[in-house]
Parts: sequence; structure tokens; C-alpha cells
Amino acid sequence: MSTKEQISALLLKSQSVLILPHIREDGDAAGSSLALALLLKACGKEAIVLYSEPLVPTLQFLPGGMVYTEGMELPAYDLCVAVDCAAPDRIGSRLPLFENAPHSAVIDHHGTNPGYGDVCWVEGSSAATGLMIYDLYIAMNIAISPASADALYTAIFTDTGGFRFSSTDARVLRTAASLLDAGAHHTKIYTEVYERVSPQGYLLTARAMSKTKMYFGGSVAIICLTQEDFIAAGEKTENTDNISSLPRTIDGVELSVLLRESKNGEIHASIRTKARINAAAIALSFGGGGHERAAGFTVKEPMDTVEEKLLAAIEACMH
Ligand code: 5GP
Ligand code: MN
Repeated sequence: MSTKEQISALLLKSQSVLILPHIREDGDAAGSSLALALLLKACGKEAIVLYSEPLVPTLQFLPGGMVYTEGMELPAYDLCVAVDCAAPDRIGSRLPLFENAPHSAVIDHHGTNPGYGDVCWVEGSSAATGLMIYDLYIAMNIAISPASADALYTAIFTDTGGFRFSSTDARVLRTAASLLDAGAHHTKIYTEVYERVSPQGYLLTARAMSKTKMYFGGSVAIICLTQEDFIAAGEKTENTDNISSLPRTIDGVELSVLLRESKNGEIHASIRTKARINAAAIALSFGGGGHERAAGFTVKEPMDTVEEKLLAAIEACMH
């Protein structure tokens, strides 16, 4: 694994940088990427953030970035940076852009990151990749503009569940305070991210809650959301970020899983745990990854099969 100094040296010797956040961009992936682009522009470089798909409506207030389409013309770039991507498959169909780049780098905060790219800077102890980009601004002595502050605050605020998850430490709160000093619009960001649920998304949440199944004496909660549920709620996007941590809030639940069926038949699992169980270890055994308290994986198998296998894996680590 590489260091912040190696990353800043590589950034400084590059002229044109392509930035790739992980697929199904969340607030940390998008905010960290946009803030990195602003840092590079402040250093006189060219920088483009290339999304895998349009941002979900609750993140569309973040300015900048463009959406990748296969075969699109891109300006020449000498460095490609994967941001918040725990493994190469999190880059999705843009992976050739990363692999064929003259130089490649990774900035990520997932402890399960196997290390890839020419330079790979991973801090498993950081609550968000946004904290690492903030540290880059400080290390490289670049002033944080209000736009950078908004992007970084969004990254940190969303990945800590609005400063609620156990990853919220003194560094998170100190950094958030500095970002407010730098002009971050925290009320606007809160409202955009958490108070713009679509009526369809709201209905989907209600369906999800009513479908919660309890196992192992109430210590495990599982929700299976099928395409039928999305259709019944009228929800067109496949974004379930506001649902995935809900079943963990039930008293007595130690581990929760949201299984979501995609239009292409894949099942994505969002695992959340309280104090005892390592979510990343379970996700890793299914080919995914993540953090101790929040991890995920994607497989192409029937929902029932995934649920059965998961229950077996969970049972094994409950003892
Ligand atoms: P979520 O459940 O919200 O999709 O993801 C929870 C955490 O696990 C996030 O930090 C996310 O980056 C990580 N994660 C989710 N899915 C995958 C996956 O398929 N592979 C890996 N390596 N990490 C994942
Ligand atoms: Mn993240």
C-alpha cells in the first residue's frame, strides 16, 4: 500500500486526470471525487469526474462531473484515479479506462481493499474517503473553497449516516467543523440528502419495513426487496441507501441484511452490524467487501438461494 505523499507526488506530476468514483455513486464517492477534481484544478491541472450513471436525485445538487457512456470521446489523460472503490470491480464498465491509463492510482478507505493500481492509498481507519481528500488539501496546502467544502462535507456527512454511525470519531467532527468554517452549506446538504425522498421511495421503504423477517431469536433482521416491490411502489431507481441501515435500528438486532433484486437479476446485499459481528468478513466470503459495521456484495443467484447461504454464513459467525 502507498502513502499520501506518494499520491500527492503523482498528482503533482500529472497534467490531466480522470477520476472514477465507484458504481452506484453515493455521497462519499461523488463528493470525494468532485473535491479531488477541484484540488487538481487549483493546482492548474485538468480533471474530469466520470460517473458510471447519473447521480441519484438526492445528490444532484453537487455540481460538476459527467456520465460515462461506452465509446464516448474523452480528452487524453495521463493519470486515472479510482476513488472510494474497494476493489477493481467497483469501477464497473469503466475499468478499461483505469487499466489502460498511463498511470493509475487508488484513494480508498475500505479495509478489505486488496491493493491495485500503480499507487494505492488506503486508510481503513478513515470514516470516509472524503476525510482523506481533506487531508490531501491540507498536506498540499490548497485552500478549501466553499464548493470543495460542500463536496467534502457531503462525503463525510453521508458515509457516517449523518454523524450517527460508530465511525463518527473526533477526526470526523473536527473536519466537519473546519468545513463549516470553509463555507460548507450544512443545512442545504442535510435537506438535499435526507429530506428529498420521492413518494415512490417512501412507499418502497414502507414495503421494505413490512417485509422484515426476524431470525435467531430476534438478533438478525432480513429484508428481501424484489423487482415486484419496486414496481408496486412505482420506484424506478434501484437506490435503497435510505433503507439499508433501517433494520439494524430494531432493538436486539445485531446484524441486518437488505437483499435487493436488480432489473438484471443480480442480488445486492447490504449488511449492517452493531457491536459484535464483522460485516466485512461475511461480505468477503461472498466476494464483496466493505467495513466492520457496513459491507456488501453482489451475486447473480436466486433471492432464496442467497438468503439461505447468508443465513448459514451468519449462523457460523454468531457462535
Ligand atoms: P452498501 O450496503 O451501502 O451497498 O455498502 C456498504 C459498504 O460496503 C460500502 O462501504 C460499500 O463500498 C461496500 N460494498 C458494497 N458492495 C460491495 C461489493 O460488491 N464489493 C466490495 N468490495 N465492497 C462493497
Ligand atoms: Mn465511502
